[in-house]
Amino acid sequence: MIAGVEEGLLPVLTRLEPQDPASTNPANEVARVLTGRDYLSWSAISTFRTCPLKYWFRYVAGLPEESVSSALVFGTGIHAAIEDFYRAELAGEAKPDVEQLLFAYRSAWLPHDPDAIQFGSSETRASLDALAAKMLTAFLSSPAASVQGRVLGVEEEIRGTLVEGVPDLYGRIDLVTEDEDRLMLTDFKTSRAKWSPEQAEDASEQLLLYSKLAGELAPGKKLVTRFLVLTKTKEPVIEEHLGEVRPDRLARTVTSVERVWKAIASENFYPAPSVVGCASCGYRQACSEWRG
Ligand code: SF4
Repeated sequence: MIAGVEEGLLPVLTRLEPQDPASTNPANEVARVLTGRDYLSWSAISTFRTCPLKYWFRYVAGLPEESVSSALVFGTGIHAAIEDFYRAELAGEAKPDVEQLLFAYRSAWLPHDPDAIQFGSSETRASLDALAAKMLTAFLSSPAASVQGRVLGVEEEIRGTLVEGVPDLYGRIDLVTEDEDRLMLTDFKTSRAKWSPEQAEDASEQLLLYSKLAGELAPGKKLVTRFLVLTKTKEPVIEEHLGEVRPDRLARTVTSVERVWKAIASENFYPAPSVVGCASCGYRQACSEWRG
């Protein structure tokens, strides 16, 4: 996981790895009995906030999804390609070209039955592949393809207790970099359009929580969150949104997670239909058959 990292940086990343989970946090066992996992992930938290019944289908009942949206597979493919780019940087290898990145992108489609993928009305697999090539070409010629400072980790695992009574948060930080003054946690995103500063702030909760776990690992360095957004527009744009870790916003996010966990632990699962959420939900059939 950390091959190629400079020797002097090893202690930081070693301390980012999962640590002795179940023994230190009693809530981990509650989570394990309910979901089979002794931790919470950001994906689980945000799924519950979107629709508690969807959370139940996915994390408690363990139902496979009836379908998967092309946007999800596409985003996973772009993510895999960008990840490969920074892995090469971490290992000190030559920068991959667009064909190499497209190989990683295409791999995201392989596990899915093509008939179970929901495409948008104007989309085909070929049109999405062409878009991916444009986006990755734009990425390679953007400033984001020149790392400022050093890459410390790619898809770096992190785990720790946010607050008493809540299972550990476990996740992977897409990219961890540092320069003289800052430790930067980056999340890769694909988007239909450019992000506003408000969107970046709204989306920052996951990175804020990770920063709480990573903060003590970089004493003396300023923690910065960063979104690297690749737009799916006709002419793709590569944007960077930097954010500071504000204590008030972090405290609010931790409280929100605490409330979400209380609702999960009390098994308060119900459908929360919405036009956007239900359109891409992989449990529409199971949901229509649900009777409580
Ligand atoms: S179809 Fe809508 S209400 Fe039903 S589980 Fe999915 S998101 Fe929730």
